[in-house]
Amino acid sequence: MTFDSYGKLIALGPPTCRFTDELPERALLLRHDIDDRPKWIEPMARVEAERGAVSTYCLQIRSRFYALDEEADRAVRTLLGCGHELGLHFDSSAMASDDEVVEGVAREARLLEDRYETPIRVVSFHMPGVRPVGHLDVAPLVNTYAPRFFAEIGYLSDSNQNWRGKDPAAELRAARRIQFLTHPTLWSGRPLRAILEEQAARLGTTVDELATDDQKAAMA
Ligand SMILES: [Zn+2]
Repeated sequence: MTFDSYGKLIALGPPTCRFTDELPERALLLRHDIDDRPKWIEPMARVEAERGAVSTYCLQIRSRFYALDEEADRAVRTLLGCGHELGLHFDSSAMASDDEVVEGVAREARLLEDRYETPIRVVSFHMPGVRPVGHLDVAPLVNTYAPRFFAEIGYLSDSNQNWRGKDPAAELRAARRIQFLTHPTLWSGRPLRAILEEQAARLGTTVDELATDDQKAAMA
């Protein structure tokens, strides 16, 4: 999986639009959750711009894999310069109530807005399986797992370079409205194991300790 192959793939789908647009009859919503180094944003943002596509990059505030440092700042400048949108990727797994989640989202969105001087209008939840989040009203932000972006339209994800038996090209070709979630690091031309080895080395741990059950299954 490379940035070039990603560009070819999205060209098969409907025209792209933003989560905050009125959804046209045919729409491809491109979303990226940033769970690895922000430097991988840049080649992806450029490939999309070359194809005339717009997308939304959701950044975490509290990731163990990266900080909002110079590398992140540069990546954000590049993606905004390409005409894409910055959103928030929020980890709600340790939170006990919906109220706590809604407050946390507002707080972290403000932090991103202040740092990057761009409106944050979109939130995607990290590991949404941990808590049911599609129902959460995070207005004025939009929730990418709300039924109108998830249950009621097509949905495709590159989770762990595993398409779960789907053919992404066929899905995109046939789609009328579809959300396509991708993680830039997975398109950097490296197999999952190499990506995890690099992350583990950076964090001073092992792939075995780091990998989720899903990732272990994908590498088996
Ligand atoms: Zn995530």
